[in-house]
Amino acid sequence: MIAYTKAGRKPLNAVCNGSIMNRDVAIERMKSTGVDLVVIGGGITGCGIALDAVSRGLSVALVEREDFASGTSSRSTKLIHGGLRYLKQWDFKLVNEVGRERAIVHKIAPHLVHPDKMLLPLVKDGKYGYWLTNVGLTVYDLLAGVNGDDRRQMLNKKETSELEPLLRDDILEGGGFYAEYRTDDARLVMSVLKSAVDEGATAANYCEVVDYRIKKDKIRGVRVKDVLSQEEFTIKSKLVVNATGPWVDQLRAKADALHGKKLFLSKGVHLVVSRNRFPINNTVYFDNEDGRMLFAVPRINKVYLGTTDTAYSEDIASPQTSAEDVDYVLKAVNHMFPSIQLQVQDVESTWAGLRPLIFEEGKGASEMSRKDETFEAHNGLISIAGGKLTGYRKMAERIIDLVFDRLERDNPGCTTDQITLHGGEFQDYAAVEKAVKKLTKEGMKQDMATYLVHNYGSSVGLLLHDVKSFETKDILKAELIYGIEHEMVIRANDFLERRTGRLNFDIECVKKFYPKVIQWMAKRLSWDEERIQEEKKTVESKLDEVTSMLS
Ligand code: FAD
Repeated sequence: MIAYTKAGRKPLNAVCNGSIMNRDVAIERMKSTGVDLVVIGGGITGCGIALDAVSRGLSVALVEREDFASGTSSRSTKLIHGGLRYLKQWDFKLVNEVGRERAIVHKIAPHLVHPDKMLLPLVKDGKYGYWLTNVGLTVYDLLAGVNGDDRRQMLNKKETSELEPLLRDDILEGGGFYAEYRTDDARLVMSVLKSAVDEGATAANYCEVVDYRIKKDKIRGVRVKDVLSQEEFTIKSKLVVNATGPWVDQLRAKADALHGKKLFLSKGVHLVVSRNRFPINNTVYFDNEDGRMLFAVPRINKVYLGTTDTAYSEDIASPQTSAEDVDYVLKAVNHMFPSIQLQVQDVESTWAGLRPLIFEEGKGASEMSRKDETFEAHNGLISIAGGKLTGYRKMAERIIDLVFDRLERDNPGCTTDQITLHGGEFQDYAAVEKAVKKLTKEGMKQDMATYLVHNYGSSVGLLLHDVKSFETKDILKAELIYGIEHEMVIRANDFLERRTGRLNFDIECVKKFYPKVIQWMAKRLSWDEERIQEEKKTVESKLDEVTSMLS
């Protein structure tokens, strides 16, 4: 067992099997040591809360029923954005908060949160006319503190088509060109989580909360099932926060605390195509004929397209992209970019996610607010739902302020705006670009270098430490070893889908190398034949899930 300091925070032996992200050690620690706070849910909300709590001196345990970020937090549009839609609803306070958050998250994770100019084409009878776009984007920049070259530009028709020649010409009237940020949601979760663990939090994936520990009518911990061993254990705590996104109501119900407002789940899907097939230059936020807006987002050599917004009441754990969803998104893209005429067979991969929205009577899915909401139960359970990836830090700040109130402790205040996230140790954004250049100078292909630096940031040197060559197979193996040792990769899909994003953005690589990945994992983790077959089945069924509606 690892020895811990008296305060129970920093492990003395921070590196165990090469990692502070060691699941067995984490579970042993959770069983034996009570904590101030248990966080249920390893999405962006839960991980953000864990980091804020531990950085203010609380002892924290976080448990996730599947893999970290396996819920909504790996299935979003992956934008750190202010949300022009809030301006349309005159919610200046929210635009101000979310707008400023973009710059903060970019500063603390420059490798992961990239400035990305966005083009909003103005079309005849579109959702945002010239006036609203001009005033809106100006207010947006002001509220969000955007300066210099990043300020919005209003473009005429000619300038807009020069920027994006594939846009349809007959209805185009001009464009707004403004600053937003792009990220990788699952990597952001991992980066926040690793920062929390660096600070002393304990976290384990594949650990499902099945019940609460109740003492004198108050929730004082959780009963957890280790999904891999089927063993159950208890974590004692002073408080419990339920940050389970779409599952929030299930966990509230389990605590007999499902009163008042409830969740409304809305499904959104994305499709991935090759950038050669759809060669756009910028992220485009465009009108569909039905009055909704969609995104086309370039990401290295792919472009992803989305999203939909439809009421959802099926299995929360596995929302699927349907043939109708694919048809809807392709039609919208082909309407705005008519020379492209994307077909179903151009789609390489898909993903579907669930927005945990707060239900509002009489409103449709796309009209419901994206604001977060906190629920406090009679027995002390604190639940948080709604919100956005972009606002995770502020949501965490509000929750931990409340936790300090309830614990009646002196609150040192939130400092997560000053904590560089794991992998973000770069002087500035230019240094991120320099790191990419350095790898290409050493002989790595540009796409691979960009991918590695953006995914792993300043940890890329450690990852490539022993790499044999820059061939895909050798890099993949180096990533896998890094993932097992430093990012709690437990199952093959953790690696293929969330740590590397390859299932969505390089599916050919997954198809080619997944038997090898399973073989490497089997050797390293001493899997028996049964486990090998189970992993194979799980990867194949995931491959089927993201492509089945395309055949
Ligand atoms: P989740 O990520 O779902 O995490 C909850 C976790 O709790 C899950 O991992 C789950 O496995 C775990 N859990 C559940 N039950 C238990 C249990 N009993 N025990 C232990 N763990 C449990 N936001 C943006 O800012 N920008 C965007 O571009 C954007 N685009 C979006 C597009 C779509 C289609 C969708 C659906 C959402 C989008 N969002 C976006 C919103 C954003 O993705 C979500 O607000 C955010 O990811 C929610 O995170 P979460 O941690 O609350 O939930």
